[in-house]
Amino acid sequence: MKVPVFRPSITDDEINEVVDCLRSGWLTTGPRVRTFETAFADYVGARHAIALNSGTAALHLALDAIGLRRGDCVVVPAFTFAATAEVVRYFDAVPVMVDSEPRTLNVDMGAARATIEALRRGEPVAGLRPPYGPVRAFIPVHFAGQMVDVERARAIGDEFEISIIEDAAHTLPARWKDRAVGSTADITCFSFYANKCITTGEGGMLTTDDDAVAERVRCMALHGLSTDAWKRHMTGGRWYYEIVAPGFKYNMTDVAAALGIHQLARADDMRARRARLADRYAAQLADFPLLELPAQVPETEHAWHVYPVRMTHGAWAIGRDRLIEELNARDIGIAVQWMPLHMHPYYRREYGYGEGLFPVAEDAWPRILSLPLFPDMTDEEQDAVIDALRDIARTFAG
Ligand SMILES: *Cc1c(COP(=O)(O)O)cnc(C)c1O
Repeated sequence: MKVPVFRPSITDDEINEVVDCLRSGWLTTGPRVRTFETAFADYVGARHAIALNSGTAALHLALDAIGLRRGDCVVVPAFTFAATAEVVRYFDAVPVMVDSEPRTLNVDMGAARATIEALRRGEPVAGLRPPYGPVRAFIPVHFAGQMVDVERARAIGDEFEISIIEDAAHTLPARWKDRAVGSTADITCFSFYANKCITTGEGGMLTTDDDAVAERVRCMALHGLSTDAWKRHMTGGRWYYEIVAPGFKYNMTDVAAALGIHQLARADDMRARRARLADRYAAQLADFPLLELPAQVPETEHAWHVYPVRMTHGAWAIGRDRLIEELNARDIGIAVQWMPLHMHPYYRREYGYGEGLFPVAEDAWPRILSLPLFPDMTDEEQDAVIDALRDIARTFAG
């Protein structure tokens, strides 16, 4: 049985809505985007939700909205996707990386706080030498759908008077205690890329309770046109507009929103199915000590976007790359999240980042792989993944 690492869940509701949208004659930002935004804001409990054409655009506009400037510092985890740090570079600002905690691989809040304190004092921090610009923001990432401790992030934001921007690209829906993702930070950024928790093909959403941030984001998402112009654009209204800033072209299309409206309505059901599959992996692999399974922090609701496992130290005669080859040879698709950013050529060259700086992320990297997990995955498909792992272990256990 061939098991892909991911397969998007698309029903007739999505298909019919896209067809209706195409037949309506209104393809770009319009009534369906507005419906999607309103439903999304309601769903996560945020005052504003602004639909964009990617999660990266949401992160970029978040940093624009806080007024990030050249040379400013933004604290990011080293263990994250390219987008989290590249948006900082769009401003010629400095991504200051910190390590992860071993259990969840989410950013180590103690390390983040210590790093910000060191930056403030002008002391050297991992990979960087003073002088530094002001620290303006901290971008925690909810890895795999496990939320970071948002109360500690908030405390860091308050203590140092910096913005907390959550990268929730992996995370919908999820809760930290009784608080839903999308309502716990100054700004939260979601991705609707094809393999994310809900998808619009490509797309993103920015949520915030801050009216000024929302207004700036709407403006910059559409060429820096005055927000009145945005409203006219949304309703196909008058022809006159004014440019108030050099903006970008980040608006979502109604074709994409047609997908998003129905994906959002199914977000709880899709999460429930992923969570059931995650529980099933945990039960079926409980007697398989060759893999460390992902932890779930008690009192949180996990979005289970991916199922990252780590090969147990010393348990295998082969490395991660060979394990992936063996799984692929048995028709099992695998993804790898992620090679830590400080090990990539650009960040080495630009800042002198490199090996030895972030031991937790570096320890995880050669051992980590993500097993197939998606809402329409059948128990039989999951059993095929588990059988393949056991089969490989028979030959390659160390
Ligand atoms: C997918 C992803 C993004 C970027 O989202 P796009 O919609 O692809 O631009 C940002 N951060 C993380 C952690 C992601 O996984």
